[in-house]
Amino acid sequence: MNKKTVRDVDVGGRRVFLRADLNVPLDDGRITDDTRVRASVPTIVYLLERGASVVLASHLGRPKGKVNDALRLKPVADRLSQLLGRPVRLTGDALGAGVQLAVDKLQPGDLLMLENLRFHAEEEANDPGFAKALAGFADLYVDDAFGSAHRAHASTEGITHYLPAVAGLLLEREVEALSRLLKKPAKPFHTVIGGAKIAGKLEVLEALLNRCQAILVGGGMANTFLAARGLAMGKSLVETDQLENAERIMAEARRKRVRFMLPTDAVIAPQIHYRARTETIPIDAVPKDQMVVDIGPETVAAYTEHLAKARTIFWNGPMGVFEITGFAAGTTAIARYIAERTGAGVVTIVGGGDSVAAVEQLGVADQMTHVSTGGGASLEFVEGKSLPGVEALLDRDDP
Ligand code: ADP
Ligand code: MG
Repeated sequence: MNKKTVRDVDVGGRRVFLRADLNVPLDDGRITDDTRVRASVPTIVYLLERGASVVLASHLGRPKGKVNDALRLKPVADRLSQLLGRPVRLTGDALGAGVQLAVDKLQPGDLLMLENLRFHAEEEANDPGFAKALAGFADLYVDDAFGSAHRAHASTEGITHYLPAVAGLLLEREVEALSRLLKKPAKPFHTVIGGAKIAGKLEVLEALLNRCQAILVGGGMANTFLAARGLAMGKSLVETDQLENAERIMAEARRKRVRFMLPTDAVIAPQIHYRARTETIPIDAVPKDQMVVDIGPETVAAYTEHLAKARTIFWNGPMGVFEITGFAAGTTAIARYIAERTGAGVVTIVGGGDSVAAVEQLGVADQMTHVSTGGGASLEFVEGKSLPGVEALLDRDDP
């Protein structure tokens, strides 16, 4: 990475504003996936052990600029304190006289966590006054929030106008790992892409068409491609407004000689319900009153056979409605197979909120070369876009 990191500066005795991405999924106040909290620990420990005092900040959910008690960072602070084995103090607000007092009292090795930044509308508006106020808490800015790096917000971009800004260890690891998909990936480079929709993934599909030798499609997204080829998809999720885009992508794949694979069989159900009766059918036999909920075993076999040739595999988006056990076989099989390929020296990278959740649930996350905490940021990175949160950091050769 051509950016300065925490390892390039002397952090001892410094007061550090550490932006992490602790935006975890919550269910009734309980964290359902703590990946991002765990992934943020190394930089926190790194700074504290070297005698920095740390003001830790994150957003959580979408409170849209208003205080929302359901989106307080308390559960995150509690989880973090378990992981660190020490209490984590959380302020009642990200700004204010009380926060300033608490910050003033920080000693080397002390940690203070600010309440949800997005309780202030100024955060997402990248308000310079707000950014400057946050910067006032510290003399060094460390950005470890890779998952927020695609947004120029006050705490990811604005603040870098007021403080020297360097990368944390997680952000560095993410950039290094995902760069392996951009800079001379070992060929063949195959992508498995799925999830609900094409909308939102058009740009990543187009970027991948320029880099991959094969794109294997599953999930709800595959239905739209199949419909564009003239197949009847019954009650399946089909984006009727994306049919033209789907055709265009497939035409581009043909022109660029990228192998574009679609499911040849599917698991269908009358509705998305955990007790729904399922059936496996050839893809050209989806009944009017049924919907595709997963790829079928023949598709799994064809995809894994093709993936066996790949030296680099990128995976984004589940192959079916994996949240329901009866619809998860396709996603499970693909996840396990990709994980297995890491052992054969293949670079295996997973990005995207739900695909990452699937990989975590299946317990194969640590068998992958890299599982990104980035969600949308990882997709934008793979598209080749520059991320404002990364761009704003000091370059390696800056003084
Ligand atoms: P990611 O977060 O990994 O990028 P997406 O957000 O694009 O993935 O899509 C994930 C969602 O897609 C999941 O909630 C899953 O249930 C849904 N999904 C996958 N296959 C289908 C399908 N055949 N029909 C409807 N929804 C699907
Ligand atoms: Mg998602």
